[in-house]
Amino acid sequence: MKILVIGGGGREHALVWKLKQSARVEKFWCAPGNGGIAEDAECVAVAAGDVPSLVALAEKIRPDLTVVGPELPLVNGISDSFAQRNWAIVGPTRQAARLEGSKIFSKEFLLRHNIPTAMMYGAFDSPGNAYAALTAVKWPLVIKADGLCAGKGVFLAPDAEAARQFLERVMEMNELGPGGHRVLLEETLEGEELSFIILTDGERYSPMVPTRDHKRVFDGNTGPNTGGMGAYSSDELLPPNLRDQVISQIVEPTLKGLAEEGIPYQGFLYVGLMLTKEGPKVLEFNCRLGDPEAQAIVARMDFDLAEVLADVAARQLNPENLHWKKEASVCVVFTSGGYPGKFETGKAIHGLTNVSPHRGVEIFQAGTKRERDLIVTSGGRVLGVTAIGTTLEAALFSAYQAAAEIQFDGMHYRKDIGASAGRLKAVGD
Ligand code: AMP
Repeated sequence: MKILVIGGGGREHALVWKLKQSARVEKFWCAPGNGGIAEDAECVAVAAGDVPSLVALAEKIRPDLTVVGPELPLVNGISDSFAQRNWAIVGPTRQAARLEGSKIFSKEFLLRHNIPTAMMYGAFDSPGNAYAALTAVKWPLVIKADGLCAGKGVFLAPDAEAARQFLERVMEMNELGPGGHRVLLEETLEGEELSFIILTDGERYSPMVPTRDHKRVFDGNTGPNTGGMGAYSSDELLPPNLRDQVISQIVEPTLKGLAEEGIPYQGFLYVGLMLTKEGPKVLEFNCRLGDPEAQAIVARMDFDLAEVLADVAARQLNPENLHWKKEASVCVVFTSGGYPGKFETGKAIHGLTNVSPHRGVEIFQAGTKRERDLIVTSGGRVLGVTAIGTTLEAALFSAYQAAAEIQFDGMHYRKDIGASAGRLKAVGD
């Protein structure tokens, strides 16, 4: 099998690492890839969101299977373009990807199918109407830009003044681009968050192991939101009764609702949940694996991912083929200093090769590139130290031991990944 992976972050490095373990795979390409992926695949300089160029690339190299990492190519219709040509691809169509591409579409879908979610006050495309609606809401209020906004489109407004300022910035001053021209106002939910991701071929589905990520940049969940500073996975995150509830009240009604509406969904579907006192409720859908959740998930995979994804593309998923390691896993993300604000790049990364002796540890690179014989930083999130262990503690211990070997100017990582799992102490200190 020859496989093309689209994307160039830690998630894609993790996918390539796992796919490569399959005896069936003889060749890998990655578009655009990164410094770490270049060790395992032939990287091609095509932007992940550029569907016409990706089609031209596939025309030339003819992969047997294409696996899409990020949301942008999906929202831009890559699966539709590939399906028209009968090329095997894992990822939903443009229409199905609207579950992530439009928060208003996804909220209305949830409401139509009585799937538990935060109550919506309203959806607005005129700033005047949005301001007027602020008189009849409870605080704090969640404001969501409708379209893709690179993780900056959700705002928790403590009061009317803050809400007004955010609305003005996105709806009138165009700060987030066209994605911010329509907004959704909804109630704030309280509880612990959980990522529940499934893989489906449109008919059958199989859940991935549960994960939790850490979005804020600093320890103790402080500082601005980021793309993700770390994640962990343990079966203890989701007791069996809660798992049954998530499946019967959320996952199955979602897949049934999509099928009823004539929107068959194929690929990974990420369900972001808030575990509230009244039960699990949907915060968001993503049309792909999360990053860094993917790194923690692939670390626990005990099956041939290439074979399973080829089955998904052929609409022949057999959920019994997916087996999982009982162990816990963790991913600690290293960022450039200053991220998610301004940061410098081009810093040499030292110590990557020191890490290999640590059993059960893998380093998945994200914002890196190769310059002569060095790996240097090229983005905000630089790499994810990923480890597996018999307990979450053991996995964290290995990950932080390996993390201590890595060095680059200005680097930052959180020392308290996994601390929300009921532990009081940050393991990385
Ligand atoms: P989203 O992109 O919709 O997942 O939102 C990003 C983050 O905002 C989520 O992971 C939550 O931490 C937070 N969030 C979104 N919606 C709500 C809500 N209704 N109540 C509380 N937090 C929320």
